[in-house]
Amino acid sequence: MAPSPTFPDEPEKGGRRPRGLNDAMSELLVEDVSKEFPTRGEPLVVLRAASLQLADGENVAIIGPSGSGKSTLLNVIGTLEPPTSGRVVLDGQDLTGLDEPRLAAFRNRQIGFVFQEHHLLPQCSVLENVLLPTIATGPTRPESVERARMLLDRVGLSDRMEHRPAELSGGERQRVALARALINGPVLLLADEPTGNLDRTTAARVAELLLELQKQEKMMLIVVTHSSRLAALMSRKLELDEGKLKTANSP
Ligand code: ADP
Ligand code: MG
Repeated sequence: MAPSPTFPDEPEKGGRRPRGLNDAMSELLVEDVSKEFPTRGEPLVVLRAASLQLADGENVAIIGPSGSGKSTLLNVIGTLEPPTSGRVVLDGQDLTGLDEPRLAAFRNRQIGFVFQEHHLLPQCSVLENVLLPTIATGPTRPESVERARMLLDRVGLSDRMEHRPAELSGGERQRVALARALINGPVLLLADEPTGNLDRTTAARVAELLLELQKQEKMMLIVVTHSSRLAALMSRKLELDEGKLKTANSP
């Protein structure tokens, strides 16, 4: 496999570390994360000291009933929401201490998101959609276009680059969303019910791709899912129970 392209002219801060054999290992630490939402009465406590550690190249499934706080936890880990207390540390950087502009830059570079809904822009082509996260850092560079084409090829969509999202099937749209999540070479990929809207066969194909790409890109991967088939593909399974993360019992 060819190494993923690095971007040497990028600033150090928030920029992606070049990845090589001697590169430092990635690590994610989620330490005693609690999350409360204010209400008119007592605050709604969703997460209660949830902790999780993930090392380079590892993946984990997070399961739990609807409303147990899975999306909230993923949003906190992905810095989309601040925790009420606790810390999220990615590659030695305490994300809970960063202000929003620095957080946004860090997130854009280091964290990829895939949701149940593909969130593709309908007016943009497949290729343009994949390139969207690169726009935040200035004009699109030829290396980015090359990487977008490579990723679309890997998800089996090299012949759909000029299509609009409406011209794709559900599975194809989710594969575009996967390529878009990886365009900036994140160290951590967060997937919230990524196969939730897909039929069984399509879901299996997307799940397979998710794992294949995780290996190729040497990322850490957290998948929130209702699907026992998808969860079974991950090397570890955790369950959100009363706001805490526990090792899930095997089915
Ligand atoms: P899951 O993804 O496991 O279904 P969520 O994390 O979406 O669960 O939601 C957990 C709980 O937190 C739910 O009771 C939900 O209503 C509540 N919740 C989620 N987001 C917010 C918010 N922004 N404000 C208030 N309550 C929220
Ligand atoms: Mg959810």
